[in-house]
Amino acid sequence: MAGLFTTIETPNNIKYEQPLGLFINNEFVKGSEGKTFETINPTTEKPIVAVHEASEKDVDLAVAAARKAFEGEWRLVTPTKRGRMLLKLAELFERDIDILAAIESLDNGKSLSMAKGDVTNAAGCLRYYGGWADKIHGQTIDQNPQTLNYTRHEPIGVCGQIIPWNFPILMWSWKIGPAVATGNTVLLKSAEQTPLSALYAAKLVKEAGFPPGVVNIISGFGRVAGAAISNHMDIDKVAFTGSTLVGRTILQAAAKSNLKKVTLELGGKSPNIIFDDADIDNAISWANFGIFYNHGQCCCAGSRILVQEGIYDKVVARLKERATQNKVGDPFHHETFQGPQVSQLQFDRIMEYIDHGKKGGATVAVGGERHGTEGYFIQPTVFTDVTTEMKINQEEIFGPVVTVQKFKDVEDAIKIGNSTAYGLAAGIHTKDVNTAIRVSNALRAGTVWVNSYNMLSYQVPFGGFKESGIGRELGSYALENYTQTKAVHYFLGDSPF
Ligand code: ADP
Repeated sequence: MAGLFTTIETPNNIKYEQPLGLFINNEFVKGSEGKTFETINPTTEKPIVAVHEASEKDVDLAVAAARKAFEGEWRLVTPTKRGRMLLKLAELFERDIDILAAIESLDNGKSLSMAKGDVTNAAGCLRYYGGWADKIHGQTIDQNPQTLNYTRHEPIGVCGQIIPWNFPILMWSWKIGPAVATGNTVLLKSAEQTPLSALYAAKLVKEAGFPPGVVNIISGFGRVAGAAISNHMDIDKVAFTGSTLVGRTILQAAAKSNLKKVTLELGGKSPNIIFDDADIDNAISWANFGIFYNHGQCCCAGSRILVQEGIYDKVVARLKERATQNKVGDPFHHETFQGPQVSQLQFDRIMEYIDHGKKGGATVAVGGERHGTEGYFIQPTVFTDVTTEMKINQEEIFGPVVTVQKFKDVEDAIKIGNSTAYGLAAGIHTKDVNTAIRVSNALRAGTVWVNSYNMLSYQVPFGGFKESGIGRELGSYALENYTQTKAVHYFLGDSPF
């Protein structure tokens, strides 16, 4: 039986105390059923440590703690003080950046430099929402001289948050920052593949001075703890980031239980479009970064590169050359760009797609195989000779696999760009302002990058059109996900009735 804490030494010789329990009411506790599960190091395929697993009953306990805080102590904390707690939390993230980044590299497999970027952005996000905490207000509305109408933007209540494994600490901050800034309380479930950084950050929540029950963090499985959250009758809102398949389940569970508010940030199959007049060096660099960053495990990955016919051959040659230059290997090695995929399951799924592409008649221009013999490493893979309908061109692969397709003109680019069920993001590379604006207006995507890719910022909203999601995260838009508007009609005269 696992204890509640253990000492871990990471491959870059960082020794720290790792919490293993469920974080409920500001304390680490064991799971009520006494179950634990192991988290695997994707670089070595060996277990790192076992953490306590949340059951349905533990979800109830965490919801009760969050409810008590929401109705009690948290209500009395002023918005300014809420903001200060978030600012303090951001500071603690920055203080412990080396620990948090090493945990991410160990548990998720992303390179240490990328992991540090994630922690820096997570701290920035918490600080950004800390700044918003005392700037949330409604309107006064002049209806007639006898009535004072005003609106209040009130917190929704207890929020269940379910996050994925591709950006564990960053998703933690995207979820907790706006929820807490607006006065809600939270029960967050990390992904079963990557529970460690969320628990370490829970320790920092307590140190930052949040009252018990405001932020509760549990480790556990989707079909147990995740389902318990989305079906819960006393959770007022659920926010989810993950696959479109699970997103549908969550929306159904919300509908069948208490109609809790739902926001979903789901999958994508985003086009990255390179026009004949693009700056080729920059376009190649962004296209490579667009798909291979985070090993292709980005919902907004530019996984379909569309190239105008005049430069198609040149771009394919350059992309092949560029892809083979990405250093694949140990996430703790300073030159590494691409680490392992997160799990055996993900590795198998991706290899299956690669196999499907090969058998379906697409050409492997580069890659297409496992990298090495240990760890879930996959070679950066570029497919050419693809058609729009192919499975590898329609479904989210969530790995280092990209297709390259030829197009004729602006209309053709828009048509192919919009040809999937997803609508999360898109990239356009051109020097022509008219082309950039025309195409970005016509693409059905929540984010369009012009002459860049994957550049997210906590000040700017992010979310999907079509089957890529509901609602927007980040920026001031995320505040709308965590507040509900109350209209107050204050009548000043005598009753006319
Ligand atoms: P992936 O397939 O990439 O692992 P998922 O969408 O399955 O992505 O997982 C994202 C998050 O959703 C994880 O925290 C996971 O535990 C959770 N999850 C999975 N299945 C369910 C479910 N049926 N209900 C609620 N949450 C779930």
